[in-house]
Amino acid sequence: MTRSSKSGMRAGGVVDFKLSTEAEELDMSRRNLLRGMALAGIAAAAAGGALGLVSYRDEVKAETVGPATGEEHQWCRVVDLRACKGERKCVAACEERHGLNPDQSWMRVLSWSDDGGGEHYMPVMCQMCQDPPCLSVCPVSATFKTDQGVILVDQDQCIGSRACMAACPYEARYFNWSEPKPTHRMPAPSPNTPEFPANQLGTVGKCVLCADRIPYDNQLPSCVEACPRGAHFIGDLVTDVAVNGKTTVKLSTFLHEGNAVRFKEELGTNPRCYYIPGYGQPVGGPLGGVQ
Ligand code: SF4
Repeated sequence: MTRSSKSGMRAGGVVDFKLSTEAEELDMSRRNLLRGMALAGIAAAAAGGALGLVSYRDEVKAETVGPATGEEHQWCRVVDLRACKGERKCVAACEERHGLNPDQSWMRVLSWSDDGGGEHYMPVMCQMCQDPPCLSVCPVSATFKTDQGVILVDQDQCIGSRACMAACPYEARYFNWSEPKPTHRMPAPSPNTPEFPANQLGTVGKCVLCADRIPYDNQLPSCVEACPRGAHFIGDLVTDVAVNGKTTVKLSTFLHEGNAVRFKEELGTNPRCYYIPGYGQPVGGPLGGVQ
């Protein structure tokens, strides 16, 4: 992967997200439903329970990617919340592979319960925003975007200003307060590059989408591989394919049929992480105990 020039990677073709007439009707009724639910969610947020989850938007906008970039892939994530049961095996696998202490963890799983006693979960990590507020605030340009759309931090450049942490609306970055542990990178021994980050005391870390795995040995990111339920997918907007190690799906169809949404999309960060809402997602109903 190489550093990209600003955001020039999105010119060209468009992933087809067109709906059939029947699906459009369903989509419209869903939007109306979600709007009403979102209002209820905002009320819940005002009561102090819902964090930013009410700001889900009810539409998926296709990334515009193109052969003009010369890039073979444009990576994204999909998290199927219908499958997530909060086992946090993704978190454990991530911490193990990247040598993270719990206070440095690159992924967290929000949880809450609904009025009916149901438990709901949502893994949150770097959303790989294509217009990332974390990037422009870095005083030493340690944060950058690769040509394949992955946001990385050059640990050798980072001076630990933490400006990026303040700018990230997803709280996806963590300051390395503690001594690093050994990582389990591959191939070993690997150089210390942003794709193979060696944790350092006093720098800021975050999810790298296991950027060393995908291009070098075609393996799945640790969280994708570790989820026993196949909730995590890695997707490619160019080939329109997503995989979770158990199944391969057509990305655009999977997103549309799952009514996928992006987290805090209204902030204009243009995340490349899509969530497929599960049962009793945070829109609608009083939300207590979000952790
Ligand atoms: Fe940056 Fe946060 Fe977006 Fe990741 S989620 S790209 S850290 S603003």
